[in-house]
Amino acid sequence: MKSHAKAVVIGGGVVGCSVLYHLAKSGWTDIMLIERSELTSGSSWHAAGGFHTLNGDPNVAKLQAYTVQLYKEIEEISGQSCSLHLTGGVMMADTPERMDFLRLAHAKGRYLGMDTELITPSEAKAMFPLMDETNFVGAMWDPVEGHLDPSGTTHAYAKAARKLGAEIVLRNRVVELTQEVDGTWNVVTEQGTVKAEHVVNCGGLWAREIGRMVGVELPVLAMEHMYLLTEPMPEVEEFNKSTGREMIGVLDFKGEIYTRQERNGILLGTYEKACKPWSPVSTPWDFGHELLQPDIDRIAPSLEIGFKHFPGIEKAGIKQIINGPFTFALDGNPLVGPVQGLTNFWCACAVMAGFSQGGGVGLALSNWMVHGDPGFDVWGMDVARFGEWATLRYTNAKVRENYSRRFSIRFPNEELPAARPAQTTPLYDTMIANNAVMGDSWGLETPLWFAPRGSEPKDVVSFHRSNDFGPIGEEVRATREKVGVTEIANFAKYEVSGPGAEDFLNRLMTNRMPKTGRIVLTPMLNEFGRLIGDFTIAKASPRGGEERFMIWGSSAAQKYHTRWFEKHLPKDGSIRIHRFDQTLVGLSIAGPKSRDLLQKLVDVDISTTAFRFMDFREMAVGGAPCMVNRITYTGDLGYEIWMAPAYQRLVYKAIKEAGEEFGLVDFGMRALLSMRLEKNFPTWFRELRPIYGPFEGSMDRFIKLEKNDFIGREAAAKEQAEGPKLRRVSFIVDAADADVMGDEPIWAKVGGKDYGTVEKPHGYGAPRFDAGGKEVRGSNAAEGASAVRGIVDGDWRVVGWVTSGGYAHYVEKSMAQGYVPAALAENESAGLFEIEILGHRRPARVNVEPPFDPSGEKMRT
Ligand SMILES: Cc1cc2nc3c(=O)[nH]c(=O)nc-3n(C[C@H](O)[C@H](O)[C@H](O)COP(=O)(O)OP(=O)(O)OC[C@H]3O[C@@H](n4cnc5c(N)ncnc54)[C@H](O)[C@@H]3O)c2cc1C
Repeated sequence: MKSHAKAVVIGGGVVGCSVLYHLAKSGWTDIMLIERSELTSGSSWHAAGGFHTLNGDPNVAKLQAYTVQLYKEIEEISGQSCSLHLTGGVMMADTPERMDFLRLAHAKGRYLGMDTELITPSEAKAMFPLMDETNFVGAMWDPVEGHLDPSGTTHAYAKAARKLGAEIVLRNRVVELTQEVDGTWNVVTEQGTVKAEHVVNCGGLWAREIGRMVGVELPVLAMEHMYLLTEPMPEVEEFNKSTGREMIGVLDFKGEIYTRQERNGILLGTYEKACKPWSPVSTPWDFGHELLQPDIDRIAPSLEIGFKHFPGIEKAGIKQIINGPFTFALDGNPLVGPVQGLTNFWCACAVMAGFSQGGGVGLALSNWMVHGDPGFDVWGMDVARFGEWATLRYTNAKVRENYSRRFSIRFPNEELPAARPAQTTPLYDTMIANNAVMGDSWGLETPLWFAPRGSEPKDVVSFHRSNDFGPIGEEVRATREKVGVTEIANFAKYEVSGPGAEDFLNRLMTNRMPKTGRIVLTPMLNEFGRLIGDFTIAKASPRGGEERFMIWGSSAAQKYHTRWFEKHLPKDGSIRIHRFDQTLVGLSIAGPKSRDLLQKLVDVDISTTAFRFMDFREMAVGGAPCMVNRITYTGDLGYEIWMAPAYQRLVYKAIKEAGEEFGLVDFGMRALLSMRLEKNFPTWFRELRPIYGPFEGSMDRFIKLEKNDFIGREAAAKEQAEGPKLRRVSFIVDAADADVMGDEPIWAKVGGKDYGTVEKPHGYGAPRFDAGGKEVRGSNAAEGASAVRGIVDGDWRVVGWVTSGGYAHYVEKSMAQGYVPAALAENESAGLFEIEILGHRRPARVNVEPPFDPSGEKMRT
């Protein structure tokens, strides 16, 4: 074993081997993989080997498509077969709601380049005769599904990596990780210590233990998972003989089961409600190639439904039941990327579908390590997406919830209950007493809307407008016409201070930094000129002679942004970044009466000229020391008021008392989001994401190319010079009783006209390498953009996709935001656009100006 390596990958499961292969392919050959036992000694060896491309997150779906496409490549390089069976598969809907869910998934596929098709139960039965089709109302066919040999596939990655120069060390456990002052890692193993620049945690079932070696508690938990194998079935053999084809994969949501052909019989796996964590606190190091005791009682309810839906399987004898553990993060997607707070410590774990996702994970992580950027929008699997609140017990509760709901419908207005409440503000009990329906916002309880007195504060979950529609409308109207108050503790808040803080922020941000007492809005770009942040920044008066800036951003991106800030901090420690979390909370008041209200609570002049739009000031509100921004996300006259939690109740009480004479109402997050829609304001992670450029995102006025050399400037200048290919636009939709949720296709009647290729960007810029280490571009399905298929219908074409939307209550319009080719973006003609909502195409019209207060006069007053 060598004593030095550029990177050490810990763990020889399918994920570790894929990471090793992709690193080697990117040209890093001084790398090694260290495996405790033999390759596949964690969860990889007993996997059912199924793969598919569908995922709730379109970006993860694209990386899954890449994984499936990669198998041929690694087979060719390694000479090792993966035993790929590309059978295709169906998802069966047993209710109209489930059919709506499949329609949504199918609609999304229109711009993701997926060839899914909605079919009848009888058509599904023709491909899988073991089912009783009368149990179903419809189905969706996906041709890119199948199964493979898990062991062969892992070895194919490993052999291909070896051929490219990587070293693999077996039967050698990593027992300790320490880091030198210069950043070098000491990877202490049973056979000696390896000095490494980078360490990658691909520990699978032991990923948590490897995290603990560096003081990190990763939110990952192993669950027991069972599948059964039947005896050979004459029906299967007969089908194979008569059609010359293998049986397809079937996913039955109601029964929470999946099936596929295995030799001459059937493999049937379950995601049962009564699920069971395995080794919930720590994983024993001596766990090897052993299986867990099957527990047929636990899966009996699923089997009962399964046998009713697939009577052909019930008749067959059960040959074997496999029960094995594998890992999940809270939302079922992987944990990938650099761990915030550490240098060169990387994660590729919690990969619950290693044979669908392993390739994409390896590609994204190797890009990140080699080029400093994953090259794709990998937010859906970024290890930074969970905060410190995701403790061991929190993870346990959430993973169990996620597992038991794997095949359940998640409605757009559905809040999941496990592990809540976790974090609360001092106003939590008051909000509950006010009949608030609470939601989870990055682990923090946040009021969503207020149910009328006497009614149960609960969402009726639905794809359609629901019981919150009326109350949200009232909250919006009262705020727009008088004044409203809402909690905004769920924003991210940072302070950046120190000599040179302004230069530091100027290098990171696209807009000029504000003068003392002023506020700016500014996007942040990566080196490829793609949007990686959107902030409100205020310059506070200096303290101790040091520059001081307050920054507000997206709460979900707190670790993601902190990691980026830390990466770019000067090494001399001159600049400090403080993340407040819930040590700073807030309230926002908005509406035409908000100034009169606030004036009653402060002892300074806040008239239009004394406290202008976009001013920032530290002042006492209701006797509590606060920071006040003259800005609100409602786009009205309004204020954001920030205080230490100890003062929040005092300030809220003062606002409520003073507000009585003005008709003050409480409003929740959903009313806030409705109001931002009628102002055409974007949201982070919906409209603004790393797949879009700043001009595509219509953020033009915040991009000051002439100010100084900020990160991403060159790429942004190029985008501006060439003209953006896409544009973010707002639509007014002629919806019925359901509004858009996001990810719906946008159709346009373009006739024979060519408005450029319709592409949903996915990757951006980062170079890729072929198997010989040669740089290539546009070489694989994950690269660049999705090809769009099945999008033409006479004169109509799918030209874009919705990012978010809903009902804009004050202007009484259903609204959507999304991306379309730039050439179409300002075309306000009627009859040009349609947006597909739950399978029905609804007329839609671009509105370039916001329908509420287009001139911005109200907020500037
Ligand atoms: C019953 C069952 C059915 C499944 N079916 C499917 C399916 O159909 N499709 C699908 O895609 N996925 C399936 N899975 C999930 C799949 O197995 C996992 O997604 C995959 O195995 C994860 O791979 P990994 O490399 O992350 O982890 P692992 O396979 O657990 O590999 C981790 C490796 O790290 C090594 N290691 C850990 N700590 C150390 C250390 N300190 N030093 C050195 N080495 C260390 C371990 O020995 C192990 O070999 C199934 C899993 C089970 C249990």
